[in-house]
Amino acid sequence: MKTIQRMQRIAIVGGGLGGLTCAKYLADAGMNVRIYEGLPFLGGRASTFRDDDGEWIEQGLHLFLGSYSEFRTLLTEIGRPAEDILYWIDQLHLHDPQGPAATYGVNPIFAPLRTILGALSQNDYLGPLDKLSLAPLTAPALTSIENLRSKYDSLTVTEWWRQTGGTDDVLERVLRPFCRAVQFSEPEQFSAFDFLGWAHQSIYGLLQLRLAGYKGAREELIFRPLAEYLQQRGATVQTGIQLRQIEYEESQKSLSGLLMADGQRVVADVYVIAIPAWAFAPLIPMPLRRLPYFEGIAKLPVAPAISVQLWLDRVAADNPDFYLVCREPTPVYQEQSQLTYRTASGGRISVIVSPADHLLDWEDEALVRMVHQSLGKVNAAIAAATVTKSVVLKHPQHLVRPLPFAMSSRPKQATPVPNLFLAGDWTSRSSSAAKKAPSGVERLARRQSSSSFMKRSFDACLMQQTLKLWSIDGVNAAHGVCS
Ligand SMILES: Cc1cc2nc3c(=O)[nH]c(=O)nc-3n(C[C@H](O)[C@H](O)[C@H](O)COP(=O)(O)OP(=O)(O)OC[C@H]3O[C@@H](n4cnc5c(N)ncnc54)[C@H](O)[C@@H]3O)c2cc1C
Repeated sequence: MKTIQRMQRIAIVGGGLGGLTCAKYLADAGMNVRIYEGLPFLGGRASTFRDDDGEWIEQGLHLFLGSYSEFRTLLTEIGRPAEDILYWIDQLHLHDPQGPAATYGVNPIFAPLRTILGALSQNDYLGPLDKLSLAPLTAPALTSIENLRSKYDSLTVTEWWRQTGGTDDVLERVLRPFCRAVQFSEPEQFSAFDFLGWAHQSIYGLLQLRLAGYKGAREELIFRPLAEYLQQRGATVQTGIQLRQIEYEESQKSLSGLLMADGQRVVADVYVIAIPAWAFAPLIPMPLRRLPYFEGIAKLPVAPAISVQLWLDRVAADNPDFYLVCREPTPVYQEQSQLTYRTASGGRISVIVSPADHLLDWEDEALVRMVHQSLGKVNAAIAAATVTKSVVLKHPQHLVRPLPFAMSSRPKQATPVPNLFLAGDWTSRSSSAAKKAPSGVERLARRQSSSSFMKRSFDACLMQQTLKLWSIDGVNAAHGVCS
């Protein structure tokens, strides 16, 4: 076990949710924290920034899940409680351009009637046979994560669905848009284990099964307040500082410093790398690359995504709900002009384009036309609207692609190098915690733990255990640094 003294110097590279969360808990624990972010603003893939017109742009459409207990705690602790910055949404719309649409309640506790009646009715979207074929989803989802892993990680969602005798309509109208929307990948590229992990999490977290949207730009709601919180606790936050080289001292078997693009050399006692795997892989020092641990990082498969934001001459949806669209490369969109980025006139929608692999070399105008037409097939108001402005953000690498065995081979946050830790959504918790069997044991440990820091770490473990792919997993890294 690694032990470090309080007030030792911690350098964190990457100011996304992972790096900032890690920084927050280390600063709370009394460490001397410095954060280096390559972009001019914080937030990484969840960031928002202003364009030349002064309008907020988001890297990609984001929703908040009710089960993000860690994230909610963090928001409360930095003085931005979830209730202040989010609005809750209790339904989800699904549209098939070749057929009908349906609206399903997503919250059996807060919207029980809508959820139950919605599931039982709307037979033109999913007929009785389709609904029956959904039953096999619940049985595996009720088993432990370890069982899920051993039984289903070798199968794709489509293979598993065929084996259960599931219907084509469920595959095309529910599973495919879901896989495209959450992980930018087809069900043929999506491990059944990861998919069932989401189902597992939903079933066990039934009380928190809610969706939320943001009441504004995340820069103002989360990242600036988080940076201020850190600075008040003595941390330094530098943006626009790119990591260029990681120095490794072979004789000491530890890192000796970081070289930044502006020429400064950063020396610390502990280094936390909280940049994406694909940005870290080319920076891994040569002597470390042959270690299986680091070799695996370069091999993680990655999915691209394209984010398109359209300004329209009219409001094209009368609610801020999330819309899943099947059979089109626009699996999810949201109208944002009323609650998120308020505009005096017209509408504004944010769209994820996925799978994006074959669309990355398209011209922006062609993509905008395609998105407009695609959404126009399921929403007459969008079809009738004129696009008055558009922003296209292409991200060739954006999330780990959840191919069979990919998510379960994510690296642990404690590396073989004693003074190097990793954080971020592509990392996984420590193997000792992973082996700890049932979540009940962890719950007991949490109850008995007097330290709130330990509690948070156990919460983070639990989050990882339920395979929350979008977790703010810097909490666990912070715990690793402290332990
Ligand atoms: C389009 C899209 C939609 C998503 N939707 C949701 C959603 O609805 N809900 C949800 O919970 N999650 C969602 N996610 C996932 C969520 O955004 C990520 O899991 C989370 O933001 C990852 O945080 P991170 O800190 O691990 O990585 P990042 O956010 O990628 O942070 C890494 C940081 O490192 C910086 N960096 C990289 N290289 C260097 C370098 N050499 N030197 C210095 N800094 C560097 C980057 O600029 C970045 O700021 C979505 C992701 C995408 C891409």
